[in-house]
Amino acid sequence: MLTLKSVHSYYGRLHVLKGVSLHVRPGEIVTLLGANGAGKTTTLRTISGLLRPRKGKIEFLGEDISRLSADQIVLRGIAHVPEGRRVFSSLSVAANLELGAFARHDHKSVRADLEDIQRRFPILKERSKQPAGTLSGGEQQILAIARALMARPKLLLLDEPSMGLAPRLVRHVFEIIVGLQKTGATILLIEQNARAALKVADRGYVMETGGISLDGSAADLMNHNEVKRAYLGKG
Ligand code: ATP
Repeated sequence: MLTLKSVHSYYGRLHVLKGVSLHVRPGEIVTLLGANGAGKTTTLRTISGLLRPRKGKIEFLGEDISRLSADQIVLRGIAHVPEGRRVFSSLSVAANLELGAFARHDHKSVRADLEDIQRRFPILKERSKQPAGTLSGGEQQILAIARALMARPKLLLLDEPSMGLAPRLVRHVFEIIVGLQKTGATILLIEQNARAALKVADRGYVMETGGISLDGSAADLMNHNEVKRAYLGKG
């Protein structure tokens, strides 16, 4: 579904992605692990067109999207939920959800999807008229994911969805991720919480200083000595 072939990205003169190759198949949850600064966020930003790769190729559903704009990439079916649950705080919860569908013109189905999302995440219905900024951190994360779903994405890019959340909410967010896969979603997931990510993922990649240093099934990575030592710690 998504293939990165030796992708290089820069911030100005800073060479951040140094030949990243990875792929995601339909229906998979693939996790991208790695230390701070390894280039995980930059990889997602490059896929979603916020940053243009300087070399290499990104293919989505057989099309080369490496030179498309972020808007065009959203229209192809890739939704990006950035780090730090950025919701529009002064807008209502319902307005945030509607904005997720900004690129769609099928207004009737947008309505139906809004109702469906509110059924799946009742808290968003209960708080529908409230400004999004008044939600708790966990609720804002759910809203950020739900807003991305309003675009009816074929592929969802999630950047550290559990960051800063209390353990109970972390579990809830991971349950949501598993639930999304059951409804057919395909997900590329960045997580600091490697153990939780490998539990829900089918496969994973480990990034180190701008490149992929390891890849494999989630089960293999969970038992890999290097992964255990660097990312799983004790327990
Ligand atoms: P983290 O988990 O800390 O976000 P990461 O693996 O996602 O880590 P990136 O955010 O992709 O790492 O950062 C990779 C490198 O690019 C780092 O050295 C970082 O300092 C640098 N970088 C990130 N964003 C920018 C930016 N907007 N301008 C310049 N350099 C940046």
